[in-house]
Amino acid sequence: MAVIPEEKKLSKKQFYLLSFTWGLPTTLAGCLTAAALRATGHKPKKFGWCRYYEVGSHWGGCSMGPFFFKQKEPSRHICVHEAGHAIQNCYFGPFMPFLVSIPSSVRYRAHRLRRRRGKKLPPYDGIWFEGQATKLGRTYFGEDHVFHEAQEQKTNTESEKPE
Ligand SMILES: [Zn+2]
Repeated sequence: MAVIPEEKKLSKKQFYLLSFTWGLPTTLAGCLTAAALRATGHKPKKFGWCRYYEVGSHWGGCSMGPFFFKQKEPSRHICVHEAGHAIQNCYFGPFMPFLVSIPSSVRYRAHRLRRRRGKKLPPYDGIWFEGQATKLGRTYFGEDHVFHEAQEQKTNTESEKPE
């Protein structure tokens, strides 16, 4: 398990500086994905220090540097968790894909498969890099973004047709 200070150590400035230097490999992947989504008419939203895009339904989220991508359904937990991965990227830099992103996506697929087969699932945050992302997200963006979330959900329901 890789250790990251649990208290809020990075300032917003340091976050962007690290994202675009040490964490550049993952940030670049995020830039490209964001550009592709922008080109297809998706509008970015803001959560904490991250920009995010909403695509598809009921699949969760995926973090790439200061960008993340998530399902259309509003979920504060997903936003907090993905923003936590963005903080991890500032610390793990070029090791982020090998330490977190790839193992996380493999585990995500394994989880889905097990669920489809009706098997019991271990808690999602049970593995260190997922638990750490949620914890970091809460430390950095937890309390003070509740108001923002209320706004976010409002715009979501406005733009979505009621079911
Ligand atoms: Zn995760």
